[in-house]
Amino acid sequence: MKIKKLETFTKPFVSFVKVTLEDGSTGIGQMSTYHADITAQIFHKQVCPWILGKNYEDFEDIENLILEKEHKFPGSYLLRAIAGLDTALWDLKGKLKKLPVVSLIGGNPGFLKIYGSSMKRDIQPYDEAKRFKTLQDEKGVSAFKFRIGSECGRGKDEWEGRTEEIVRLINKELDISTSKLVDANSCYSSEQAIEIGKLLIDNNITHFEEPCPYWDPEETKKVTEALEIDVTGGEQDCDFRIWKDMIDRKIVNIFQPDVMYMGGLTRILKLANMISKSGFTCTPHAANLSLVTVCTMHFLKAIPNAGKYLEYSIEGEDYYPWQKNLFSKHPFNIIEGNVEISDDPGWGVEINKNWLETSDYNISE
Ligand SMILES: [Mg+2]
Repeated sequence: MKIKKLETFTKPFVSFVKVTLEDGSTGIGQMSTYHADITAQIFHKQVCPWILGKNYEDFEDIENLILEKEHKFPGSYLLRAIAGLDTALWDLKGKLKKLPVVSLIGGNPGFLKIYGSSMKRDIQPYDEAKRFKTLQDEKGVSAFKFRIGSECGRGKDEWEGRTEEIVRLINKELDISTSKLVDANSCYSSEQAIEIGKLLIDNNITHFEEPCPYWDPEETKKVTEALEIDVTGGEQDCDFRIWKDMIDRKIVNIFQPDVMYMGGLTRILKLANMISKSGFTCTPHAANLSLVTVCTMHFLKAIPNAGKYLEYSIEGEDYYPWQKNLFSKHPFNIIEGNVEISDDPGWGVEINKNWLETSDYNISE
């Protein structure tokens, strides 16, 4: 069955893709968030021309064809655009087979444990502890991640003393059975990260994400080797050559690919297989409540080497005004610390009609 048309519905932060086959069957996917308007241009210019009229069934083959034809443009933007195609094709396949995507890839729908993921650095330690405790009491969330250092901060803290204060306070305020994770977003040198790591261990933190600039794996490796704590990373990486190197040289203990940055479910499944074969765990990155988290739910529930929990952004409208009303039914309700993957076909979500009607429309056919 051939691909007949590809439509995009775009706002500056989000762009959805609708794929239609020659028999009229359809699927919905999403490109990676942020600068989605630029990604949508790449989609129509560098993705669609190679796949219109192609048989849809072998996703990997047609996606590789795009990468081969556009081999002068390796990297993030092209893969962000391919993610829109790939996730739309998986939705379509699920709808044709009347199965949720999770069932197509070897898993089962149902509950999945989350960790509440804070995106804020400008928040006071006391306020962070307070909102974690509220989520614990009201929604049963039993794992949280907070931010330390400053983002790509060249060793500087968000303000002096914040990291030490928040690490100690969160440990004091949340009981020992609550899993505590931190993310340094490429802040530290290896020497600094090893010192901070000791503070983390003393305060029952179990996960130290992206301690050093991610583009300098040698630095990260020193931290991984020096500390008895899970050092984690990989969210930005989308090139299999880099992944292979990171896995072979054990740069981190836990690998964190992002389904959308990777170019979709097909490529992240291939990567999960590489990670699993080397005996490592995969705890994917999913930083907002758009389709990236839905796709990650299906993915995480199906892979054999899945980490303990799904990243679940706890930020609301003040931080992510653009994620409001994307879906007609909220797919992210928390029930006793879990989200639920339904048995509806495909991704099991419907895009809000009003959102689509007020977006920029484009079509390739
Ligand atoms: Mg991170």
